[in-house]
Amino acid sequence: MPLKARSVTKSNRSPSNNGSPGSPADTPIQFVKGVGPRLGAVFQSRGISTVKELLTFFPRAYEDRTRLLRVADLVEGVNATVAVRVQSMRKIPARGRTILEVRTGDESGTLALKWFHAPRGMEARFKPGTPIVVTGAVKIFMGRPEIIHPEISWNVGNPAAGDAQDTGNPTTPDIGRVVPIYTEIEGVSSRVLRKVLWEALQKYSFALTEDLPETLRAKHHLPELAKAVRFIHFPEQENETPPQVNDLVEFNTPAHARLIYEEFFKFEYLILRQRLRMEKQLAIAFGANGGRKGALDLAKLLPFELTAGQKKAVEEILNDLSQPHPMNRLIQGDVGSGKTAVAFISASCVLAEGYQAALMAPTEILAEQHYKTTQKLLNGRLNAALLTGKTPAAERATLLARLASGEPLLLIGTHALIEEPVVFKNLAYILIDEQHRFGVEQRRALRMKGRSTDKETGRAILPHSLVLTATPIPRTLALTAYGDLAVTSIRELPPGRQPIQTQVVRDHASTQRAFETIRGELRAGRQAYFIYPLVNESEAEGFTRLKSAVNEAERLQNEVFPEFKVGLLHGQQKPDEKAKIMAGFEKGEIQILVSTTVVEVGVDVPNATVMAIQHAERFGLSQLHQLRGRVGRGMHSSFCFLFSHPRTGETTTQRLEVLEQTQDGFKIAEADLDIRGPGEFLGIRQSGGLPFRMAHLVRDQEWLIKARDDATALLREDPDLLHNENSTLRRFFERDGHVQFERLKTS
Ligand code: ADP
Ligand code: MG
Repeated sequence: MPLKARSVTKSNRSPSNNGSPGSPADTPIQFVKGVGPRLGAVFQSRGISTVKELLTFFPRAYEDRTRLLRVADLVEGVNATVAVRVQSMRKIPARGRTILEVRTGDESGTLALKWFHAPRGMEARFKPGTPIVVTGAVKIFMGRPEIIHPEISWNVGNPAAGDAQDTGNPTTPDIGRVVPIYTEIEGVSSRVLRKVLWEALQKYSFALTEDLPETLRAKHHLPELAKAVRFIHFPEQENETPPQVNDLVEFNTPAHARLIYEEFFKFEYLILRQRLRMEKQLAIAFGANGGRKGALDLAKLLPFELTAGQKKAVEEILNDLSQPHPMNRLIQGDVGSGKTAVAFISASCVLAEGYQAALMAPTEILAEQHYKTTQKLLNGRLNAALLTGKTPAAERATLLARLASGEPLLLIGTHALIEEPVVFKNLAYILIDEQHRFGVEQRRALRMKGRSTDKETGRAILPHSLVLTATPIPRTLALTAYGDLAVTSIRELPPGRQPIQTQVVRDHASTQRAFETIRGELRAGRQAYFIYPLVNESEAEGFTRLKSAVNEAERLQNEVFPEFKVGLLHGQQKPDEKAKIMAGFEKGEIQILVSTTVVEVGVDVPNATVMAIQHAERFGLSQLHQLRGRVGRGMHSSFCFLFSHPRTGETTTQRLEVLEQTQDGFKIAEADLDIRGPGEFLGIRQSGGLPFRMAHLVRDQEWLIKARDDATALLREDPDLLHNENSTLRRFFERDGHVQFERLKTS
């Protein structure tokens, strides 16, 4: 019986003798057969030190070796597995090294195996007559099949005869099955890893205990954890059908579903619990004492009528503010959907009842823009003030005194708002624009400025908070990354917006045409933005073909558009300089604004009708969409040119074409999430990103929704997990939950 049987030849070392704490899943990997000190260290370097961590080191791919081919059937290019016997071996000296060539064959023909760097000691194993199974890509060389650097399985007995085939499932990791391929780590081959995983699963899969309540598992017909993990490493065949490699790599098996669901479920439970907890905290209720009326009156003062989406948003926010618990709401809407007006109207509710509010924006330009809007749109009827790094000392002192006196005021500013000396007398409402540009700490700092203590009960009173984002967030992200927030979406734009003609420009001829269009717009008195990914060439090391804002501003001015005035704006300029350039562009003295992405947010110049983005392939779709939103704000129709490098790949071009096809930020966000993952949206919100290893927000949407619903129901029925059937889950959260919980903290 040449095949290794299960569970023999195992070492007798027992982890418990080693004083290892906790469950068997915490057993150090050194106890796994085949993991010596060296391999142990390699695993450690990847954060794998326990058996459980090892068992969840999942394959990156699979290879179907369920069918053994005959040598005679081998053709060029296929990845084949063949059972052969060694016939002879020779070493061929070649230019300072030695090629190892092994001749093998079955009854149908001969197959050469070649190594250009033969592992030491290997040659001694190729004794004539030895049966082996080889796997690798077939080449036909001088009419004969050969495999370079094949993978070899030794001790295979007579696999062609089908040892241990009674279940249809072979009892060996490497042959006659769908075989896992692991990412090599530090030169440790996939084959070695496979063997280690095989051993670990034989001995320790029992240690993978269930956290999911049985009821949920049964409800969705999901396999047990140990079974699922085992399947993902070594898919077993069921009935007659071998597991499909396609389904495996697409995570489309019940085993994958089990792990995906579990990840989502645990996450949703925690984030919803966090939300419930926040909803129980105290805040001041606003609206009944004139605030609501004040806000609605202010809305009437606007020079336009609110869209239905804006009205609904105002209602939702006013409703939240009227509760004695802190609002935690996210308002999302496409660029230009008019979130600012909604924010101001809601702030006026709080001011009308004698309290203070603060609006923090990520850039000075944006803060100033907001301040100007309060003056322009609301005729100063909203008592607002501006505080940035630029505010002169004297003005600043006066402002701080006003805050300390308790004057009902909306303070608009940059992160200057969260600096030490800024003290509010009664801050009850905080608003954060473009929230993804701020970190958790900055948002918390602003919130803390509005924290007070209830004199009678000693309990904390927190401010209401509203965060605004101009990057529409796909539903799945709203449920995960923002799952602790209530979400308001404004899905329509104010009427009368002109469509923006968008074009991806790659070749010389279309570049020429684009520039003609741009020149035509400028001649007609319109203005243009030219956006570059870099400020200057020195940033571009290694990307020397990239155009930089500084160089291109010069070139555009001197060579391309000498008859127009070109201005340059970027993040490294002094605030004064930036303000001067912006003012010049707003007044129309500058016709072409060359800039980096600092104009991404907040610039509002209705006369600008051209957005020309260079190296568009380097930006995310949502970011491009944001940039595009800078035009199409006036009564003239507008253009957006996405210049991309001629050698930009097909997929990138297709990605950019999404922008040609739609102006719906929500659709664009979905596409972006699919292509680039959640990082694009989260910014620095959660430094660690979302903790999903298996689950994919777009691919696995359905499971997310199920997990969400189940978590909601569970929190309603057994919030503290006291029922017997939920005890496994409770134990999990007690053990590991705090780690995850820390990651989730957003307030
Ligand atoms: P964003 O949602 O991108 O922050 P803004 O609040 O800056 O959008 O609004 C974009 C522009 O639309 C501003 O010039 C604003 O005055 C204008 N606006 C907002 N709401 C309306 C409306 N209901 N009707 C017409 N114009 C509006
Ligand atoms: Mg805005």
